[in-house]
Amino acid sequence: MADIGFIGLGNMGGPMAANLAAAGHAVSAFDISQAALDAARDAGAAAAGSIAEAARGREVVVTMLPAGAHVAEVYRGDGGVFSSAAPGALFIDCSTIDVDTARSVAGAAADGGWPLLDAPVSGGVAGAAAGTLTFMVGGEADAVERARPVLGDMGKAVVHAGSSGAGQTAKICNNLILAVSMIGVCEAFGMADRLGLERQTLFDIVSKATGQCWALTSYCPVPGPVEAAPSNRDYAPGFTAEMMLKDLRLAQGAAASAGAASPLGAEAAALYTLFCNAGNGADDFSGIMKMIGQGT
Ligand code: NAD
Repeated sequence: MADIGFIGLGNMGGPMAANLAAAGHAVSAFDISQAALDAARDAGAAAAGSIAEAARGREVVVTMLPAGAHVAEVYRGDGGVFSSAAPGALFIDCSTIDVDTARSVAGAAADGGWPLLDAPVSGGVAGAAAGTLTFMVGGEADAVERARPVLGDMGKAVVHAGSSGAGQTAKICNNLILAVSMIGVCEAFGMADRLGLERQTLFDIVSKATGQCWALTSYCPVPGPVEAAPSNRDYAPGFTAEMMLKDLRLAQGAAASAGAASPLGAEAAALYTLFCNAGNGADDFSGIMKMIGQGT
């Protein structure tokens, strides 16, 4: 069992830290939100008073933060992880962030003698709670092997994607597919409504046909067919539309810098911008059904 610092205890980080504590690791947790910190304490972690305290003397530090700016600040800022971490500690950033920040923070960590892996996840809040996340990991192979036992207590699969930044690249590609497929599913339900085809009937057919996809069968954007889906809770997140828009913008930025065409990604980003600008950013991303499904 490892001595672990965990920073960022939100929708994802909270249950991930709880799973580490439940597996028997000593978890020292920190979040700027007192409510998140209290929940982590209730789940078996020790509450730290600062980032530096959470990181001090730990063998492993895990971060689960909103975006690149938060990750850079938490590691490199005054009183950040670098200011207090033990020599040779392993850093694992599970946030979804831009590839450039992931590489630059990992480079700065390497200068201090610390391996830092980018290890974003797929599986959502349900996967975080159940300990069934998939980790896509960028960094040196020996650091990935060191991380495996810790990641294994939070997930079901750990895939070494390549060198630093490769995990983030895989993640934004995944979320590009997810956004486009979610919009396609919403469009289809809207069209079925207008043509008089029952939603449940469409679900039953497509879930056994070539249109089958995770957005339909695990996260159905209309209430009814998939009980655990946010559509049955008035689109309470889950994974917010704002976070999806962030990832689509990351994908657009990465596509532009690589000279890759991403026309459907651009369209998805535009649609999520409209949805968020209309005041729906805090809804689950499947809530875009309210805009797309009614508009077709
Ligand atoms: P969240 O907003 O619920 O949690 C982020 C947490 O970070 C918050 O509790 C916040 O208080 C904390 N935080 C921010 N700045 C901090 C700082 N300086 N020090 C300490 N704590 C700080 O977000 P989330 O849904 O848990 O997502 C976290 C990351 O995981 C994001 O990058 C997101 O894209 C990614 N992700 C989310 C999901 C999902 O379904 N929610 C799925 C896969 C990946």
